[in-house]
Amino acid sequence: MNKELVNQLYLAAANGRVSLNEPMSAHTTFKTGGTAEVFVELSNADELREVLRILGKNEPFCLIGNGSNLLVSDSGIKGAVLHLAKGFDEIKVCGDTLICGAASPLSRIARAAYENGLTGFEFAAGIPGSLGGAVVMNAGAYDGEMKNVVESVTLMDYEGNTAEKSADEMRFSYRRSILKEEKLIVLCAVIKLGHGDKREIKEKMDDFAARRRDKQPLEYPSAGSAFKRPEGYFAAKLIEDAGLKGFRIGGAMVSEKHAGFVVNAGNAASADIYALIREVQKRVRDNSGVCLETEVICLGDFGE
Ligand SMILES: Cc1cc2nc3c(=O)[nH]c(=O)nc-3n(C[C@H](O)[C@H](O)[C@H](O)COP(=O)(O)OP(=O)(O)OC[C@H]3O[C@@H](n4cnc5c(N)ncnc54)[C@H](O)[C@@H]3O)c2cc1C
Repeated sequence: MNKELVNQLYLAAANGRVSLNEPMSAHTTFKTGGTAEVFVELSNADELREVLRILGKNEPFCLIGNGSNLLVSDSGIKGAVLHLAKGFDEIKVCGDTLICGAASPLSRIARAAYENGLTGFEFAAGIPGSLGGAVVMNAGAYDGEMKNVVESVTLMDYEGNTAEKSADEMRFSYRRSILKEEKLIVLCAVIKLGHGDKREIKEKMDDFAARRRDKQPLEYPSAGSAFKRPEGYFAAKLIEDAGLKGFRIGGAMVSEKHAGFVVNAGNAASADIYALIREVQKRVRDNSGVCLETEVICLGDFGE
């Protein structure tokens, strides 16, 4: 990106932060990946609109949330990485609804719901994403998903226009939303919950947290389940049946605790993780005939 554009970005994101060659390992839960050519943290919709105008149609850019579902190439990301940061993380409680900025951590929204005696968001308390990423992914766990709690979403298109979409218009389905097809940015969402008993809400959250600690390799960096659940099967079982528990490439490993998780077992490169994911897909296909689709999103060039 040329210097003039970078200077314009500095001015546009005056309340945020612009940095060059930002290590993406600091922004992904895999803790791997090369650098972003330009990393822009934004603190309000006007800054975002101005940055989109500067980048226009010619400069490549992408958005990240909390980086908990991302694998960034070791060669990094060309162009700009946009990150909605402070200023986008407000949570307002109005009766049984919460109006949450895209950068709000799901854990904080769950906490706010609990404190206000609101039930329905317990499922998301242990998902380490932001509201924006969770809306994009229709994140879910323990029979809950964003689809069930999102009432509406405020979005910005790449021209800087904002619009509100209802939950129906978001076309949520298993780990999908309209944002998988349309170039839109989540600014905030209205979450509608029910009134509940605080003690029961707490018990439910504690139970889900205990189940995560028990079943998931939370001691290692990862991006959660690497693969989507194929219809009629469980990815972890297929991987285990293919004899791949503990299988390693470089520093990447199929978790011994939960075979659906690919973990960074120590100094993994993104290339190790990527190669491991591909090898798991191949061996599971050979063993069971089932094609595993990745849930993890790859950003940058992986040489394919
Ligand atoms: C230990 C662990 C456990 C996990 N458990 C679960 C689980 O139980 N259920 C589950 O569903 N997931 C789980 N995940 C995966 C992950 O946390 C979710 O997919 C989460 O919703 C991703 O949110 P994020 O903010 O980190 O998004 P990112 O990973 O940063 O981004 C995900 C996608 O959303 C896009 N995006 C992010 N923010 C915006 C925005 N504001 N506007 C437009 N696009 C945006 C990005 O471009 C990218 O395409 C887990 C991950 C880990 C590490």
